[in-house]
Amino acid sequence: MSDISVIMYHYVRRIKDSRFPEIKGLETALFREQLKFLKKHYNFVTTEEVIDCVYNNYKLPTKSVLLTFDDGYVDHYETVFPILQEFEVQGSFYIPVKAVRDNQMLDVNKIHFILASVLDKKQIIVDIKFLIEKYRFEYNLQDFDYYYKKLAVEWRHDTAEVIFIKRLLQVELAEDVRGKIVDILFEKYLQVNESEFAKELYLSENQVKEMLNGGMHIGCHGYNHFWWNRLKPDELEVEIDLSLNFLTEMGVDISNWTAAYPYGSCSDEVEKLLREKKCRLAFTTEVNVAKTSIESSLVMGRLDTNNIPKNSNELPNDWYRKSC
Ligand SMILES: [Zn+2]
Repeated sequence: MSDISVIMYHYVRRIKDSRFPEIKGLETALFREQLKFLKKHYNFVTTEEVIDCVYNNYKLPTKSVLLTFDDGYVDHYETVFPILQEFEVQGSFYIPVKAVRDNQMLDVNKIHFILASVLDKKQIIVDIKFLIEKYRFEYNLQDFDYYYKKLAVEWRHDTAEVIFIKRLLQVELAEDVRGKIVDILFEKYLQVNESEFAKELYLSENQVKEMLNGGMHIGCHGYNHFWWNRLKPDELEVEIDLSLNFLTEMGVDISNWTAAYPYGSCSDEVEKLLREKKCRLAFTTEVNVAKTSIESSLVMGRLDTNNIPKNSNELPNDWYRKSC
């Protein structure tokens, strides 16, 4: 059994001189540097080789690395795909169907762009306070102070205010009221047509097909980008089936389908359902080197791009020493 370093990416684009310089993502130039670094110290493998390793005892090279890209951003076609082709590396792309096929924004992305559009985050908090009071009885909510006290804690690079907004609108509130509040804020601060914005933000189906034909791996990330571990079994099944239908339409080899859990939302029940549906590999967001045994094939950890040097001359870090 081999270990493998799987790296997770989201936005990869020119950020500083763009319309949204506050978007948290990886600059194109740094992506290139990171690939050079990885090429120097690791061995790139494909998703199909990892499947072969798990199920057919194929031996992966030492220090093997796999690149994964979540959420179906157009960045993955415009920026990532040409660079991967240049480096002759395969990427695996996990695509939420409603974003790509139906031009609907994911709530998580609406939140990113709300935050990136408003300099003074206190302004958003004032709006949220108003909206919580407004919907409090209809949705059986706690009062604003309860949520603020519970969630507003500075963490990593984010201020307490940003963490409060993210946690409240991504995790704490139930899906329906959360969606309502996010929509109101998105409309207020972005003042754009959602579907037009989605067309600019996400891949098109033709781009997905082109990437697949260019040797990239395309995988399941659900239809709605819901937390899978919060869905009832039949709801989860719908999410997965819609996604598998989409992959089939795109031309993906469904006998080797793989998934990335939205928000890393796995649980024993979710894993069991994926196993029943013959999912071959599934990636979490737990920061770790992944094991390649059958038992761990649906709970494979990933490193974030920020865990890996972004300068090709830097020396390998602890994650390198932890991988065999
Ligand atoms: Zn995602």
